[in-house]
Amino acid sequence: MPLSRAAFDQYMVPNYAPAAFVPVRGEGSRVWDQEGKEYIDFAGGIAVNSLGHCHPALVGALMAQANKLWHVSNVFTNEPALELAQKLVAATFADKVFFCNSGAEANEAALKLARRAAIERFGEQKHKVLSTLNSFHGRTFFTVTVGGQPKYSDGFGPKPTGIEYFEYNNLDALKALIDDDTACVIIEPIQGEGGVLPADAAFLQGVRDLCTQHNAFLIFDEVQTGMGRSGSLFAYQEYGVVPDILTSAKSLGGGFPIGAMLTTADIAKHLVAGTHGTTYGGNALACAVASAVLDVINTPETLAGVKAKHALFIEGIAAINAKYKVFSQVRGMGLLMGAVLAEQYKDRAKDILGLAAQNGLMVLMAGPNVVRFAPSLVIAEEEISIGLARFEAAIAQFVA
Ligand SMILES: *Cc1c(COP(=O)(O)O)cnc(C)c1O
Repeated sequence: MPLSRAAFDQYMVPNYAPAAFVPVRGEGSRVWDQEGKEYIDFAGGIAVNSLGHCHPALVGALMAQANKLWHVSNVFTNEPALELAQKLVAATFADKVFFCNSGAEANEAALKLARRAAIERFGEQKHKVLSTLNSFHGRTFFTVTVGGQPKYSDGFGPKPTGIEYFEYNNLDALKALIDDDTACVIIEPIQGEGGVLPADAAFLQGVRDLCTQHNAFLIFDEVQTGMGRSGSLFAYQEYGVVPDILTSAKSLGGGFPIGAMLTTADIAKHLVAGTHGTTYGGNALACAVASAVLDVINTPETLAGVKAKHALFIEGIAAINAKYKVFSQVRGMGLLMGAVLAEQYKDRAKDILGLAAQNGLMVLMAGPNVVRFAPSLVIAEEEISIGLARFEAAIAQFVA
């Protein structure tokens, strides 16, 4: 007998509260649980399964590499890592890439690089990190402290210091904090976990200008917004505002764990041999899969498809909302969208997730008050309409 959900409570550390059903198989944007019940997947493993489940190009890349070489460590380099780095450099502002295994590790590397480069260029006092309130940058102790949600970093003893916070989309708030001792500003072009809140274009450009003025590095955390999710390969390209350092993970591996930090040659030179590292980063298996992910996503067809599917979602949710009036706003870009609950239903996103699952639909929340959609970038139109019909059924029960 396969183990059931009850085994989670028996054997696993209780830091998660997973849904009552256990998924066992996926294909495209459909998933089946232990009982054989079908779900449409609008959650995408939290913006990770960028090409859905078991995409043939990814299965092919994984199988081919699995029979060739998995891991050699960074004592040696490997062909898939070199190839993926070359492709990322060709597709972005960056000249250099550092690979790791998760978003938190990519941000940890970005923050360490920014501080080290700033200190080496200007002196020990230039180490201040500025971050936005309600942001999310991962769960290592440095990144979770930089994330502007103290509920995630409190209770673990003394925190890393030299970090200050300003309000998102408020340039005056940054102006009041930034100075010549600022090493870097880290920002999500769309706050993901914080509620799917996009940056105003003028704000993002203003942040860029202030960073340049004070010789502070601008880090874009594109762990959630990157790899096609915005409709461009990276959201910075959609905004036309170029960072100094960029982090990627989630959709980069399409379900295989990998993270990356991208930067210019001039900044990268501060991480000389031995200053930072990871055993698994640049693992051949992970890089072979991510390389295939990039090949499929970074095409005009896939990126245009993201924008077309965005429109279908927005129209569909608007039509449901016209009937039931549960959302005050639907926001986001590309296939990262958030529906904000109206005052009357405040903080009840979790109830909607439960009802959606009952109706055969996986969706996410982004904080207690926002229902989040982060589906596969190649979800079929038919799957979108079936999923939206199930979403409507869930909303009808929610208001009943
Ligand atoms: C998910 C996320 C992270 C953390 O990524 P992990 O792979 O969970 O470590 C960091 N930043 C943003 C913006 C994210 O959405």
